[in-house]
Amino acid sequence: MLPFVYQMLPARVIFGPRCLERLPDEIERLGASRALVLSTPEQRNGGLALVERLGEYAVGLFDRAAMHVPVETAHAAREEANRLGADCCVAIGGGSTTGLAKAIALVSDLPILAVPTTYAGSEMTPIWGLTEKGRKTTGRDPRVLPKTVLYDPHLTLTMPPSLSATSGMNSIAHCVEALYAQEVNPIISMIAEEGIRALAESLPVIVKEPGNLEARGRALYGAWLGGMALGSVGMALHHKLCHTLGGSYNLPHAETHTVVLPHATAYNALAAPEAMERVARALSTESAAAGLYDLAAALGAPASLAEIGMKAADLDHAADLSVQDPYYNPSPITREGIRTLLGNAFEGRRP
Ligand code: NAD
Repeated sequence: MLPFVYQMLPARVIFGPRCLERLPDEIERLGASRALVLSTPEQRNGGLALVERLGEYAVGLFDRAAMHVPVETAHAAREEANRLGADCCVAIGGGSTTGLAKAIALVSDLPILAVPTTYAGSEMTPIWGLTEKGRKTTGRDPRVLPKTVLYDPHLTLTMPPSLSATSGMNSIAHCVEALYAQEVNPIISMIAEEGIRALAESLPVIVKEPGNLEARGRALYGAWLGGMALGSVGMALHHKLCHTLGGSYNLPHAETHTVVLPHATAYNALAAPEAMERVARALSTESAAAGLYDLAAALGAPASLAEIGMKAADLDHAADLSVQDPYYNPSPITREGIRTLLGNAFEGRRP
């Protein structure tokens, strides 16, 4: 067996239908009593309902969370937390809302209770991100790791099938890259393989029956595992490509992950045979890359970069950007190889 280092991340996870009812107890458990609830404008009603449910435990709602945490929003939310004398944050929503809570915790040490409503997995990671003038900076800091996470599948029932599909593929991407990460270790590999299996089994049911609570629970379980994988080991080529494409061409986050994943997986197939074996086993397919492509297709998710707004004229520049400051990757990164990968992803070819 290869040597490894594994750092366990300290988070308390409460899982199950209606577990949101335990939120007041969980706030108290942290020694807090004045929660600032955070949401996006689209989930304002859910945020307000939570403030009402929390009663004396809530001091207010800040409902301006936005994708990639604009620095102005982070400042405004920090000021609101100060003004209201909040002693903890409750983030109800996807990665954008959790990201805003992290931006507050980064400068204030306020503990975060996360209530995820997508499969993004940010709630299990110490990774923060802030965007200023179109440029996203990210970092790792243990202070931003939520102290408590409540996974209530009821809250995911409203997620439209299209977002469920791409958000789920985003979580699968965390699992796939964890399997060939530089810090690969047996615990995270076990978690990642199980995460892929849970998501691959549940997502096709969810796109047909978005109200299926059993499948919703299983997908959320997979997303939790994906978040653990993302929080514990570094990511590779796939994440580098998605950050470059998302940041430079403003492509939508979860859709970009969905389109790129089969191609990044194919790029690494020869260099990471054990990882491929685990992915294929979890998907019950012969080939990891083709299996991921077929899963996305079965979910009705976009298959090509062209479909999600990329321009053919930008592919050369995107390849140039993607080979700058490369992340660790099992297969060597070459400009030619990346340009071919991007061309395949642009056309939506089956790997
Ligand atoms: P999101 O949080 O931006 O949500 C997308 C939209 O869906 C929003 O309008 C939101 O209000 C809505 N929504 C969320 N849950 C819903 C539900 N159950 N029903 C109906 N609508 C719902 O999307 P996301 O994909 O969860 O997060 C993406 C962001 O998270 C990106 O900025 C990404 O970089 C970040 N992220 C960070 C990490 C990390 O570890 N730091 C991990 C994953 C993602």
